Amino acid sequence: MLEVLRRIIQEVNGARNLDAALSTMVRRIRKAMKTDVCSFYLYDKEMETLVLMETIGLRTQAVGRVVLPVGEGLVGLVAKRSEPLNLEDARIHPHFRYFEATGEERYSSFLGVPIIHQRRMLGVLVVQQAEKRSYDDEDEAFLVTMAAQLAGVLAHALATGNLSRPLLADGQATFSGVAASPGMAMGEAVVIAPPADLNSVPDLVPSDQEYEITRLKQAIGRTRAEIRAAGERLASRISAQELALFDVYQQMLGEAALSKEVEKRIREGQWAPGALADVVRRHVQYLERVDDNYLRERATDIRDLGRRVLAHLQEDTPSTPEIYPDETILVGDEISVAMLGEVPREKLRGLVSVRGSSTSHVAIVARAMGIPTVLGMVDLPLHRLSGAPVVLDGHRGRLFVRPAPELRVRYQTLIDEELALGKLLEHEQDLPSETPDHYTMPLMVNTGLAVEASNLLKRRISGVGLYRTEVPFMITERFPGEKEQTRLYRDQLESFSPLPVVMRTLDIGGDKDLPYFPIDEANSFLGWRGMRVTLDHPEVLMVQLRAMLKASHELDNLYVLFPMITNVEEVDEALRLLDRAIVELKEEGAEVKRPKVGVMIEVPATIYQMDALAERVDFFSVGSNDLTQYLLAVDRNNPRVADLYDALHPAVLAALDEVARDAKRLERPISLCGELAGDPAGALLLMAMGFTSLSMNAPSLPKVRAAIRRVSWTEAKKLLGEVLALATPTEVHRHLEAKMDEWQLSHLMPPRD
Ligand code: PEP
Ligand code: MG
Repeated sequence: MLEVLRRIIQEVNGARNLDAALSTMVRRIRKAMKTDVCSFYLYDKEMETLVLMETIGLRTQAVGRVVLPVGEGLVGLVAKRSEPLNLEDARIHPHFRYFEATGEERYSSFLGVPIIHQRRMLGVLVVQQAEKRSYDDEDEAFLVTMAAQLAGVLAHALATGNLSRPLLADGQATFSGVAASPGMAMGEAVVIAPPADLNSVPDLVPSDQEYEITRLKQAIGRTRAEIRAAGERLASRISAQELALFDVYQQMLGEAALSKEVEKRIREGQWAPGALADVVRRHVQYLERVDDNYLRERATDIRDLGRRVLAHLQEDTPSTPEIYPDETILVGDEISVAMLGEVPREKLRGLVSVRGSSTSHVAIVARAMGIPTVLGMVDLPLHRLSGAPVVLDGHRGRLFVRPAPELRVRYQTLIDEELALGKLLEHEQDLPSETPDHYTMPLMVNTGLAVEASNLLKRRISGVGLYRTEVPFMITERFPGEKEQTRLYRDQLESFSPLPVVMRTLDIGGDKDLPYFPIDEANSFLGWRGMRVTLDHPEVLMVQLRAMLKASHELDNLYVLFPMITNVEEVDEALRLLDRAIVELKEEGAEVKRPKVGVMIEVPATIYQMDALAERVDFFSVGSNDLTQYLLAVDRNNPRVADLYDALHPAVLAALDEVARDAKRLERPISLCGELAGDPAGALLLMAMGFTSLSMNAPSLPKVRAAIRRVSWTEAKKLLGEVLALATPTEVHRHLEAKMDEWQLSHLMPPRD
């Protein structure tokens, strides 16, 4: 059963268009279940109806004509209840409705299951049988599994407009994802393909077919040489049978086979990488379908060969363009912080990716740079977006591909309004962040990439609350040496001096990998991360601490912060290394002062260890991004659970309130440097809790300052009391929205639909 399922899914996934996918799906299901009819009904959200979209068994003229309101007919009932319906004699069921066009009167038995994607009804899958048959548990389980698997394929088709073509003009489509960095932008989609991934090669029409064919031949030639060399190297170490595989590879790559087909495809109008990907995909699909284990294995070989040839092709095809359009919206499967750095800032208007979520680190960096970003667009058809005009809405998490003129005009107005608001807020940016009843709330900035310490900025902040040292590490090709780091930190400390700069020791792991120090783990956010890595690698930590200390010489504005602390012992060990670094430097003749030291409160365990921690450190800094993910058990990087991730969840607010009170009792300053600090309503709550400073992305400063300057400390305190009494995240959001409305501050809140 599993094998059959796997093969059907593979075929459906591999189909070039949705029509082919649907037709394959119903045919294969009918065959696998040995039944008479298999049909698919699509749910139309606007009309609240189900439309017969594909069938094998019913009359094909009925396709598109049979339309059932939700709740009506057996299919409508399945959709309404969102659960399977299994009837041996369907015709006696009170919901049975007969549609003449279908020829359905002949069928007695009925099994229907809903197709649901991320809680959204997409359609209903139905099998029917002429003679009475009670579909058994296994049948039902099969169809339910099938429906669950197909949900992703359908969601993708729906999102790309493939399924709702009559509603959309040619090529237009809307995609939704997780709003990751606010702002709106219009521009041209530039798709960046990860290296040698056959599935992410975009379709491009070549300007010179002969050139494409020549470079294909060169790439195949290089791959053949590579395989020959590998075969020779391994000749003495592997069996004759395994060695024979290398001959198979050579044959596959031979003139008559793969290369001829790819050449043909190029002549049909594809560039070399696209043609290769098409041909490989077709072979793989065919081989995976056959009932022969040996041949199925060959699918892996073809794929592997395809990847190798593609890697050679990509050697001379930069996967990212050399010249970016003036209004680039960068689109990719996964966008790394390093990729961000490759596009000239003045050309980069927005970011979109299939993976990631709002607290992925690329989102944090994008926010710091003020680039509208939407991540977690799981349904994005990368290969069809290259060069398309797009509108990106980073507030609502939307991407409009080939937008209609009216939509463009509407967005241009919204963009102009946002610019106008920015200008309006700018007027008060040099005024203190002080409430009308004279409570001062120090504001700081988070840095790492692209925050320039201009004199203008320095006047408006109380310092750097978080310098993420791992960010500059991500764009080098190896660990930077002590001298290099010293220069880097000196630059940061000097440019913000005399303001304090909180430098966090390397916080890698989770979704922050260094290209030269990959950490591959099943649960990376619960794994080897932050301090856990650097304590295991004291040589890395020592270099960093020494560099920080040296950089601060005579500036003395360095504060050191340790991330991902779980145990007090980790703090003791880190402090021991810090003291050792100071002694070492002294011995080398460099007189350095011991900086103030703090720990991040981001692993829930630390909430209960505040007393012990306070005995050891000078200040606390709450990492609300991680604290939220760990308290709620929601991976901050996973778009599927992005709706559950909420720093305003009552449990998170209660925890924050508690740590703020503890810090006060222990007479230790406590800052918050997660994304919550940059949310105007969140900032008011944190102020009321007693946080002694808030550190945020520079672009968030104007709105937060505006909120603080308009709401008194007394009002904020009252608001906090009300919010802490609420039980659900929805109530908290509603209450905050209502209050911000009442205070006429809703323009500071992110726009909603
Ligand atoms: C946090 O966890 O809130 C934080 C500030 O650190 P990072 O986002 O870099 O993990
Ligand atoms: Mg963190």
